Amino acid sequence: MAASSENFERFILTKFSDLGLADILLRALNREGYESPTSIQTQAIPYLMQGRDLLGIAQTGTGKTAAFALPILQRFTQEPQRAVPFTARALILAPTRELAAQIADSFRSYGQFMRPSVGVVVGGVSHRPQIEMLSRGLDILVATPGRLLDHIASGRFKPATTQVLVLDEADHMLDLGFIAPIRQIVAKLAKNRQTLLFSATMPKEISGLAADMLRNPAEVSVTPVATTAERVTQQVFLVDGGAKREVLLELIQGHEISRAIVFTRTKRGADRVAMHLENAGVGAEAIHGNKSQNQRQRALDGFRKGHTRVLVATDIAARGIDIDGVTHVFNYELPDTPEAYVHRIGRTARAGASGQAISLCDNAERSLLRAIEKITRQSLPIIDRRSEDARQNETLGESVRGKGKPAVRARNAPPRGRRDGARSEPKSSHSFGKNSKPSSRSRAGDRVRG
Ligand code: AMP
Repeated sequence: MAASSENFERFILTKFSDLGLADILLRALNREGYESPTSIQTQAIPYLMQGRDLLGIAQTGTGKTAAFALPILQRFTQEPQRAVPFTARALILAPTRELAAQIADSFRSYGQFMRPSVGVVVGGVSHRPQIEMLSRGLDILVATPGRLLDHIASGRFKPATTQVLVLDEADHMLDLGFIAPIRQIVAKLAKNRQTLLFSATMPKEISGLAADMLRNPAEVSVTPVATTAERVTQQVFLVDGGAKREVLLELIQGHEISRAIVFTRTKRGADRVAMHLENAGVGAEAIHGNKSQNQRQRALDGFRKGHTRVLVATDIAARGIDIDGVTHVFNYELPDTPEAYVHRIGRTARAGASGQAISLCDNAERSLLRAIEKITRQSLPIIDRRSEDARQNETLGESVRGKGKPAVRARNAPPRGRRDGARSEPKSSHSFGKNSKPSSRSRAGDRVRG
């Protein structure tokens, strides 16, 4: 067993409030339904709040937007200032219009109680409204590089006073030929700014750009997605929402399981599932953030020693757990982000062993399933266990996989209890785009370098 209890504690104990974020932001996160920070947020936010530059290796879907947006907003709570005409205090450069709009939406959501001025400047639309907006000055400007350069050239945007620069999806910018415009923009910014660069991969042009732009950056990297998924046998059971407990029990009883982790989305869900299994004679314990440290430790020890066959866990609770010999992972509910799915199934098939991941997916979770298939670049075998009625009620013409609808990222799926952000799917999402190739830079674990 290689469990690092230090790691475990670090993750299980990290809450947004532990990161020192202002109440006005915590309230917004609460309103958005975010329970706890994602890995990139836990790692990056402390550095950014110290004013450090940052090199973040992370794909879309990892929560990286909040990782940079929250510290920027935090800075504004501490240094309130009136926007100065034709300037922006923070500048975010993004490769596409769609991503720029999404980033601006995120700033508005996280800043909903502080109401920062947020503007978007992208190509393909009229200059005039953008000029009017820039003339008032902005707290946060999200822009694509080409159009921003036009505004700089015509004197409608003055970059010299910008305090924070974020380059998002730098590798995508490279693909789109934006490196030269970026260098031109950066050359006009103040030297004492804070700079953040995010990229899913690190081709040499990007590491060169990072070396030129960043000063003593902290480096933070989150698990990419492809590799673990390939070592695990995966299956999806389509089920009626109300039948999940019974199907889970049946599957657990019907499999040769020595150790299984069942993932639920909520703490209460974990308790309920554990109790249901216990009542049916399957030794199970729940582990989540509401349990005391002693309870968690006892549950883990019991699981490790084989006294308890099934551990029922929330994502956050399971993050630091590294236990060999987990034969099965059950997703009682699909996670909000495909990244979390990969984390979950990576709990099995450790040290070259084989493992099985079985997901229960009800109708409301179909878009989450599609997002997982996209990010892991595989079609998961589906077994339809829905009732005859539910099958017949399926919308005419919609297949089990959803009739080749545009991919919906997990981020946009309507998770229960979470505000459904009205965001649109980027037409050319780098990470999930139809043509995206598997990254040659797959990494197997989270890594932090200060
Ligand atoms: P991003 O990687 O920034 O594109 O974010 C992916 C999705 O995760 C977005 O829909 C966010 O709203 C959502 N998200 C980001 N951080 C969290 C969090 N801590 N908890 C739940 N959802 C989150």
